[in-house]
Amino acid sequence: MSSDEVKLILEKIQTLFPNAKCELIYHNVFELLIAVSLSAQTTDKAVNKVTPILFAKYPDAYALAQADILDVEQILAPIGLFKNKSRNIINLSKKLVEKYQGNVPNYQSDLESLPGVGRKTANVVLTEGFNIPRLPVDTHVERVSKRLGIVENDKSVLETELTLMSLIPEENWHKAHHLLLFMGRYQCFAKKPNCQNCILFEQCKYDKKTLN
Ligand code: SF4
Repeated sequence: MSSDEVKLILEKIQTLFPNAKCELIYHNVFELLIAVSLSAQTTDKAVNKVTPILFAKYPDAYALAQADILDVEQILAPIGLFKNKSRNIINLSKKLVEKYQGNVPNYQSDLESLPGVGRKTANVVLTEGFNIPRLPVDTHVERVSKRLGIVENDKSVLETELTLMSLIPEENWHKAHHLLLFMGRYQCFAKKPNCQNCILFEQCKYDKKTLN
């Protein structure tokens, strides 16, 4: 697909979701990092319910590094994989204290060296928290990009990210991430996409798209 076609698609999605933005609630980069780490395989809504309790008790890396894991597990119990996530965010905080004076680093490799932090989480923190151009690819962005035919179906997550970055101007990466994500979260559902009401039905290359 050409850059112009992608631009047109993004403009159409923009009309549908003019306010597409990060739906995780956070007040600083530390809270953002923790919230994104907690959001794997659960909804932002569920994360937003537990983080106010977590951050009220453990407002920074120093506090969370010293937390009792059982207490953190109790707070995170409503979200998926809470035991792993509790361990990861405590260990992540310990590393922030030991290596970064309690601050969140703004380098990809430093972020990815933290427990439980992968490329997508690092990318979200960089673009959302530090305003460094990145185009994070989560399950929604990947699915929508492939169904629309922007990215070929056999591409990996990393190849999807690189393809999108090559087709979209750098200054639009951040916005494109949110637009594709909103499209996947609220329209192009994984199991039953809402094709009959889709603004992109004509352009979409998904072979199972249907008006019924
Ligand atoms: S037509 Fe259907 S599959 Fe294609 S983008 Fe729209 S909702 Fe998704």
